Amino acid sequence: MTAHGTLDAAIARMTAIISESRHVVALVGAGLSAESGIPTYRGSGGVWTKFGEPTIDGWELFQEDPAAWWEAALNPEAQLTDFARAVEGAEPNAGHIAMAALEAEGKLAHVITQNIDGLHRRAGTTQLTEIHGNRSFVRCMNCGERSLLAQIKIRQLPPLCEACGGVLKNDTVMFGEPIPEPALRECYRQAALADAFLVIGTSAVVYPAADFPVMAKRRGVPLIEINPEETALTGIADVVARATAGEVLPALVERLRT
Ligand code: NAD
Ligand code: ZN
Repeated sequence: MTAHGTLDAAIARMTAIISESRHVVALVGAGLSAESGIPTYRGSGGVWTKFGEPTIDGWELFQEDPAAWWEAALNPEAQLTDFARAVEGAEPNAGHIAMAALEAEGKLAHVITQNIDGLHRRAGTTQLTEIHGNRSFVRCMNCGERSLLAQIKIRQLPPLCEACGGVLKNDTVMFGEPIPEPALRECYRQAALADAFLVIGTSAVVYPAADFPVMAKRRGVPLIEINPEETALTGIADVVARATAGEVLPALVERLRT
């Protein structure tokens, strides 16, 4: 059941909206990767819901002493957190695969993801903005160039950019760290281009990400929510599917094919 009718009716309405649209944009959150075994932060079962929110000074600490940050991050003796272990063992699930299929079949123009796990890329999505970064990448604090962590040569700590000599940071956007400008610009561009907006597995309380669907909605763009729980955006959604992304997205792909 959904707030706006049965699940089947919601998927039928989504199908109708998407088939009439030319530039569908999706905003994705941690819920999409929940079925890959990566815990969310918020919502029932969320890491923060269980253990409380973490300290929010990561960015300040990195800026004060980037070498110390890298030393801790590269320490082979350090224990992986449960969250990091879950991300390392994760594979794309039916929801990620369905999103890649939507793109390949011309039904989804762009994905803005808040996830840092890299599972969209692995599933085959290419039109992607990772607004909070990707944990497998590093980013130059000076020129913004992103490279795979596994491919950089670490000659000293902090490691330096091959192109410009700037300090490299892990690409994941830390608490307090500004969103990199090119990613932010692309999100605003997509929010302006969208003629339908999918909001999948996000509690929609992290800004500026939560703003993009609201901006589109203000222009009259239909908003579709896929989430087993109510969120900050439910009230303005035109269609709500109260089920998991792994259930809804493959069904949506199937419907759009018929
Ligand atoms: P969130 O943790 O705040 O909210 C998760 C949302 O997902 C909730 O609304 C919940 O109801 C929903 N959900 C749970 N299981 C679902 C499922 N199977 N299908 C669909 N929806 C489901 O996540 P957020 O909104 O992305 O914001 C949290 C921040 O945490 C983001 O900035 C993100 O960078 C980071 N984060 C990333 C990961 C990841 O990379 N996989 C995981 C946890 C948190
Ligand atoms: Zn650089």
